[in-house]
Amino acid sequence: MRIALVSEHASPLAPLGGVDAGGQNVHVRSLGLALGRLGAHVTVHTRRDAPDLPPYAKLGPSVWVHHVDAGPPEPIPKDDLWGYMPDFAEQLHAVWSRTHPDVVHGHFWMSGWAALQAATPLGIPVLQTFHALGSVKRRQQGAKDTSPAERCAIEAEIAATVDITLAESNEEVFELVRSGADPRRVWVVPSGVDLDVFSPRGPVAARPDRGARVVVVSRLVERKGVGNVITALRDVPDTQLVIAGGPPQHRLEAHPEARRLMHIARASGVDDRVELVGQIDHDAVAALYRSADVVVCVPWYEPFGLVALEAMACGVPVLASAVGGLVDTVVDGVTGVMVPPRDPGRLANVLQHLLADAAFRRALGVAGARRARRRYGWTTIARETSRAYQHAASRRLNVSAAKVG
Ligand code: UDP
Repeated sequence: MRIALVSEHASPLAPLGGVDAGGQNVHVRSLGLALGRLGAHVTVHTRRDAPDLPPYAKLGPSVWVHHVDAGPPEPIPKDDLWGYMPDFAEQLHAVWSRTHPDVVHGHFWMSGWAALQAATPLGIPVLQTFHALGSVKRRQQGAKDTSPAERCAIEAEIAATVDITLAESNEEVFELVRSGADPRRVWVVPSGVDLDVFSPRGPVAARPDRGARVVVVSRLVERKGVGNVITALRDVPDTQLVIAGGPPQHRLEAHPEARRLMHIARASGVDDRVELVGQIDHDAVAALYRSADVVVCVPWYEPFGLVALEAMACGVPVLASAVGGLVDTVVDGVTGVMVPPRDPGRLANVLQHLLADAAFRRALGVAGARRARRRYGWTTIARETSRAYQHAASRRLNVSAAKVG
């Protein structure tokens, strides 16, 4: 199969942890590589955000990244990209008119829009993974949501038009159906985890000799709830909190969210126990998880939440908020413990109990690694995604055969 993945802002080659570079970049990269291993020819189309990038770069065996010229070749916040999408779609149409992929798979709403513009006139089936929904963001962030005003209406239109929407969680199905999607054309296909990288065995980052260690790996945006973890630390003595993510460490001082977090740490009297290490290479994340007694992910909302799954795959217990995709991946009391979001008091309480019970933590870690291995390996997820591609492609063939008949 020849597959075109479209990921307008999230390049599979980008460094992670910045404001707009996280789970979607990892997802598109891992999905592309896994589809390649299953024998597909894959091209990932992403916007050129630097002048020196080649038009095509090889990601892996039979997997290529195409840098699409649309807008200035420099980093642009994703919420300011919408105006460049007609250009982006035009470039896609020009390429696909020549290469005619069997299926197109959009990632994020703007990619879905561009994919439909370019593929529909060519009769190519389109599938869509939203990664995040504007309706949820608007509800959660209100006036702080900087998405273009059209986002929610366009998402509903994409879901109504594409052949299949791939929802990453059950909560997303509910959201999509509520905004008018036909449930028969929504399939749940979660994100996956690279089991070769994220496993219980492997290097372990250095940690202090005394006390406990809690790790957070996150983009530094308020809704990730990192501030709540810092506040909770006040009631969890003898515990060090390591926070990875954001810009590289030497640029944290100038980063508004990093400054806000350090302010909370000082105000809570825990700044001597909180360490912001900035962005770390994706290759180094597993060693950091393995050095933790508990990995905490307590976002206020979360479309999927790769970090919790990666930590589970490393055999580390997860303390997660009961929101979005985390409700599907983390089994409360079995692979981790769930708490309500935005509740530092409850978080501190549960964290104390977890840190005091090594046997429970071990049991959670073992169950987490088993669940990640059995359900979320990328080969499994790529196979499920391929089934959706085949279904969409054969449905199109049936429709055109019926028309001819
Ligand atoms: N990540 C990383 N280095 C960092 C911060 C994050 O490699 O400094 C990775 C992390 O391992 C995970 C992804 O970025 O794979 C974050 O995905 P998640 O779904 O948890 O959150 P998102 O950023 O998509 O909201």
